[in-house]
Amino acid sequence: MKCGETPVTRRQSRRLMVGDVPIGDGAPVSVQSMTNTETTDVTATVAQIGRLVDAGADIVRVSVPSMDAAEAFGQIRKQARVPLVADIHFDYKIALRVAELGVDCLRINPGNIGREERVRAVVSAARDRGIPIRIGVNAGSLEKDLQQKYGEPTPDALVESALRHIEILAKLDFKNFKVSVKASDVFMAVEAYRKLAKLIEQPLHLGITEAGGFRSGAVKSAIGIGMLLAEGIGDTIRVSLAADPVEEVRVGWDILKALRLRHKGINLIACPTCSRQEFDVIGTVNALEQRLEDIKEPLDVAVIGCCVNGPGEAKAAHLGITGGVRSLLYIGGEAVRKLSNDRLVDELEQVIREEIHKRSGQDTAIPAKVIPIKQTG
Ligand code: SF4
Repeated sequence: MKCGETPVTRRQSRRLMVGDVPIGDGAPVSVQSMTNTETTDVTATVAQIGRLVDAGADIVRVSVPSMDAAEAFGQIRKQARVPLVADIHFDYKIALRVAELGVDCLRINPGNIGREERVRAVVSAARDRGIPIRIGVNAGSLEKDLQQKYGEPTPDALVESALRHIEILAKLDFKNFKVSVKASDVFMAVEAYRKLAKLIEQPLHLGITEAGGFRSGAVKSAIGIGMLLAEGIGDTIRVSLAADPVEEVRVGWDILKALRLRHKGINLIACPTCSRQEFDVIGTVNALEQRLEDIKEPLDVAVIGCCVNGPGEAKAAHLGITGGVRSLLYIGGEAVRKLSNDRLVDELEQVIREEIHKRSGQDTAIPAKVIPIKQTG
């Protein structure tokens, strides 16, 4: 059965909470995205957050580049129904203000805040309110001295940068953080995460930054994030696309579903089609994807054009059809009845919704196996 437990053994990491979403220590890998509206436009930002949540975002990040944006963030926080991360660069006063206004996580690099008393102020505000921090290292904004030392961004340079920020928090005995070491180059990012995973106990936020447009970015992200997750590395993910952020959430979920780390909604198994197809497979799949977007419960559905591969796939899925003069419907591995090819989409939608209704109440999170990490520093 494809909807089974993942074979991935997860790296053990320290648990933190972003709002009510657990991260690390075997918690389901959470899916994040980021708004691209003007944060000061509260209505537009809240609306976009709503669309991200509907698509399956567990956590949403919002840029807070100014004090006006911080005040807007406070209003957004009151209206949004998902934990929010405030993305802040340099200005510690903004971090303090959003902490007062109820932020669920601060994305801020301690090494960029400036004087020690400012770092202390931000860390104590985070500690007092139980707010975790995400250290976000990016190959595109490495410190100048590290660029000079390594000549160019490298995995070691990314890790060294992360360790500097971590060291600042360690001196203040602050452990409630997660870390990302992103690069647009898949190999660089993957290697940096692998190295960091052996050095710290905190959860890792995965991403391939500036991955590209919808298709190329999705492919790069699936390879980079997928490689790491398959090795058990990674506790929360953000797919970065130059596209509608809703697509980031969808791609993120598809990566998790492919690795069987989490299950949500309809997992469509479809043949690539050829002249043997007995009905319009592509049209049927596209129509079903659109019509069934609202379904959150996991279900494997096979849509196969003919009897060459049809029975095998349809029997292995929770529900499937094999093309014929009239297509044959399988449920739970058993042939049930024939469906008219003229009304296939309508009939399939109906039987899928009936099946979901029968199965409602299932847990979508897959229990994780965990292994201890090596503590080397
Ligand atoms: Fe062609 Fe049948 Fe294979 Fe689909 S299952 S690609 S229709 S041979």
